Amino acid sequence: MEATVAITEAKQKKGKPDPETLQFGKTFTDHMFTMEYEEGKGWIKPEIIPYAPVEIDPAAMVLHYSQSVFEGLKAYRSPDGEAVLFRPDENFKRLNRSNRRLSIPPVNEELLMEYLLQLLELEKDWIPDAEGTSLYIRPFIIATEPSLQVAPAKAYKLFIILSPVGSYYPEGIHPVSIMVEDHFTRAARGGTGTAKTGGNYSAGYNAQAKASGEGHAQVLWLDGVEKKYVEEVGSMNVFFKINGEVVTPELNDSILQGVTRKSVIELLQYWKVPVSERRISMEEVLTAYENGELEEAFGSGTAAVISPIGELTWKGTPMIINGRKTGEITKSLYQTLTGIQTGQEKDPFGWTRTIS
Ligand SMILES: *Cc1c(COP(=O)(O)O)cnc(C)c1O
Repeated sequence: MEATVAITEAKQKKGKPDPETLQFGKTFTDHMFTMEYEEGKGWIKPEIIPYAPVEIDPAAMVLHYSQSVFEGLKAYRSPDGEAVLFRPDENFKRLNRSNRRLSIPPVNEELLMEYLLQLLELEKDWIPDAEGTSLYIRPFIIATEPSLQVAPAKAYKLFIILSPVGSYYPEGIHPVSIMVEDHFTRAARGGTGTAKTGGNYSAGYNAQAKASGEGHAQVLWLDGVEKKYVEEVGSMNVFFKINGEVVTPELNDSILQGVTRKSVIELLQYWKVPVSERRISMEEVLTAYENGELEEAFGSGTAAVISPIGELTWKGTPMIINGRKTGEITKSLYQTLTGIQTGQEKDPFGWTRTIS
């Protein structure tokens, strides 16, 4: 198979946004990639077309039973003006893992990468170059077959849309306050927590609203069975530094396998900082806090890269971590990861893919 894409260029190009006022995911570039799936034919009609609203049948199955998956990754502008992607192969692998869980036919990862590169080639001027900015890449798949049957669809559409995004930390990296959620559940054993699928996120809005109402930035999710073990924070994986060792919950079938999480673990191993993936209970976190051993905590994900946690409130008890200051390991991880992602630092791992 060859990665030939029909390209229709937009007649009118939009103006580029002011990087100072960019919000997350509100501005989109001139073009998008689309491809369709038809039973018996597979994935067909790869196209790059002007970004525009799409027509959808009101009976399209995604609108009724949420059969959909998505990915999120970023392209950064290097100091030499090249576009840099961070471990994009990991995102496409995960897209197919999500597809499997949602009974969506798999995509050819190598071909999809070629299509993304062609889209970026056309849209590379949209990658902003101000400090902390990037071009957010959102591939997603929806079930388009018009049918109210509760069964996997026979037709799908895949899109890649691109959105220039501003700095996550316009005032510099700073710790946030997190509330441990002990009523609502994000994901349960055997559920869809390991897949990036739409419904997982809207199911978290009410817990997020509760946390925001109490002055916290995000929710920390516990396991859905006993509400005892730490799972994730918001849409990020979570790490604690306890008595010199960095600990993150081990992957189970309700935690999303973050690309940033994997990179943090590999970077810590490279630095010879003790790191372990294991079950960690809130009881253990609280005991470590009371013993003065809870040294740092942070979330990891594509949007913020690393987000230091300055306060963690569980059952009404606030734990203030590292005097609400960003910890040393947290800071080093942030600087090194963003340095590699933006092409400002050497990449000894072969994580980045540069498009000149
Ligand atoms: C996307 C996501 C993450 C972070 O994954 P990255 O690949 O690091 O961006 C963590 N948790 C949830 C629930 C997510 O959706």
